[in-house]
Amino acid sequence: MVEQLAVGLDVGGTKILGGLVRGADGHVLAQIRLTTPLADGSAEILRSLVAAVQKLKARADDYRSDRIVGIGVASAGHVDWESGEITDGTPNIPGWAGTSIAANINAATGLPVCCDNDGNAAAWGEAWIGAGQGKRSLVAITLGTGFGAGIYDRGHLLRGERGGGAELGHIILVPDGRPCNCGQQGCVEAYVSGTAISRQAQHFWGPTATTQEVFSRARMADPIACELTAEFARYLALALLSIFNICDPEVILLGGGIAAQADLFLSQVRSRLNRILGGRRWSGEQIQIAALGERAGMIGAAGQAIERFGLRHA
Ligand SMILES: [Zn+2]
Repeated sequence: MVEQLAVGLDVGGTKILGGLVRGADGHVLAQIRLTTPLADGSAEILRSLVAAVQKLKARADDYRSDRIVGIGVASAGHVDWESGEITDGTPNIPGWAGTSIAANINAATGLPVCCDNDGNAAAWGEAWIGAGQGKRSLVAITLGTGFGAGIYDRGHLLRGERGGGAELGHIILVPDGRPCNCGQQGCVEAYVSGTAISRQAQHFWGPTATTQEVFSRARMADPIACELTAEFARYLALALLSIFNICDPEVILLGGGIAAQADLFLSQVRSRLNRILGGRRWSGEQIQIAALGERAGMIGAAGQAIERFGLRHA
């Protein structure tokens, strides 16, 4: 069998992560990290993405760059999977809405390009080679600055009509609650995200308080930090309850920077869900920590390119 490779790119509001990924097993052969250039609009970001591809192709010489079957891009915002276009942007990347990512990168590199929402790509990556490997269905949640999500079921992702599906961070958790970036009030993301935690902490410790500080203080049994962590756990449990009822997945995977602190809140989340759902269809094992860390979107995007453009029996 001829070895097949793909380039995966993950575009976020702060960084671009790129990787040269082996199709057979998802192994990352080379990786690159760039700061997302936000000052000059979408054209500059596209130039950075193309530059990342060229650098990864150059590093692929040892492995023969003609084995690269395509490029997968994971991006924040709503993404039309068929056209590879951003149908609705994100406040974190100004000017990104309407950008034809696939067409532009294809024109610059000559390689076929697919593009998906970053939460979807992360779910694909976890299902492919991560903590969801072998699972028929899963929901992958990225707990970082925001609340990203992807819904995978039997080889398919739920994308919706124009790529706006699976936005589980914008389920209403609290009627007329805290304002959200999306314009709604009371969204999950306004309670269950790094931004939400740091905003709450700033009420107590001033404008420089961070999410990391909350967790560090919680480890030292600071009562305010423990209360903020418990509040986070309570809202996360309620969000997961809705997600469980909507999707009935084999497993819900928690990833992103906050999941690395899960020992501080996961047992509280599990016990609350145990109380609500009882033992009928809930064992507590349906919540797990994701395996691919910050590389989930990048690896998943490359996996999607392999799936879409690779030769199945090469
Ligand atoms: Zn929202």
